[in-house]
Amino acid sequence: MKIALLSRNRNLYSTRRLIEAAEARGHDVKVLDVLRCYMNITSHRPSIHYKGEELTGFDAVIPRIGASVTFYGTAVSRQFEMMGVFPLNESVAISRSRDKLRSMQLLSRRGIGLPVTGFANKPDDIADLIKMVGGAPLVIKLLQGTQGIGVVLAETPKAAESVIQSFFGLNVSVLVQEYIGEAGGADIRCFVIGDKVVAAMKRQAKEGEFRSNIHRGGTASLIRITPEERSTAVRAAKTMGLNVCGVDILRSNHGPVVMEVNSSPGLESIELATNKDVAHMIITFLEQKARKGDTKTRGRG
Ligand code: ADP
Repeated sequence: MKIALLSRNRNLYSTRRLIEAAEARGHDVKVLDVLRCYMNITSHRPSIHYKGEELTGFDAVIPRIGASVTFYGTAVSRQFEMMGVFPLNESVAISRSRDKLRSMQLLSRRGIGLPVTGFANKPDDIADLIKMVGGAPLVIKLLQGTQGIGVVLAETPKAAESVIQSFFGLNVSVLVQEYIGEAGGADIRCFVIGDKVVAAMKRQAKEGEFRSNIHRGGTASLIRITPEERSTAVRAAKTMGLNVCGVDILRSNHGPVVMEVNSSPGLESIELATNKDVAHMIITFLEQKARKGDTKTRGRG
């Protein structure tokens, strides 16, 4: 196969591993910086150019699109889809998963376990908002945050009210969420490919911290997940329409709850924690599934 790998940096662990795995299986991989792709959107012959040349003959595209380039990155992915190139993850599904509110509403509609969550933009009655989601302690999240930045634990109603007030003062919408204290500062990353969880790791926050992000000093280790956690992760991936994703789950008193579904999950921590060759599994998935033009929307979404 000829595979386009959309990545801004070929030296990133995940990018390097995907190149290695694809080449080991005899595929031809081209790494493309998505921001350098330019496109002709004429309907009868959609095309993409890169450094003065037209991109042709690709069988599959692996979009690894960072949060900061979602808008342009999904446009380039959609263009590949219009050209009939099979995407590992479809552009509509990537856009869907990048919108936290939309994602949670979709997951909730399918009955997938979520922490009790409220959204607000500029409510007149913050005390009522807090009461609506069950009171303090509460986790308050900025919509645009990544790597745990913009996630605050407010232990009392007073603290919650003043944190929410200051976010509104900055004109940002927030997500107000039940604090799952019983998770003990740990979450579970389930790596889904197709309809299977192929690897799972536990991330444990460092002492005195509730956020388990590796960037916040968390550590990763292998974990055995329950059948309920497995099916929750697979259903979450299916709801988002993602073939490959990382589903982050907390173990709550009321069963597994999904925090987030990540459409460009990193390979480094999961491969190191589980000793599994996830890159190889992604490439073999493409070998089995990549058919020309075989997407739900063909770029129409
Ligand atoms: P980001 O997308 O910035 O990583 P998350 O929503 O994933 O933000 O939150 C970061 C971390 O904070 C999570 O990995 C988890 O450990 C912890 N966390 C988030 N929400 C909750 C919650 N409702 N209850 C308990 N811990 C939480």
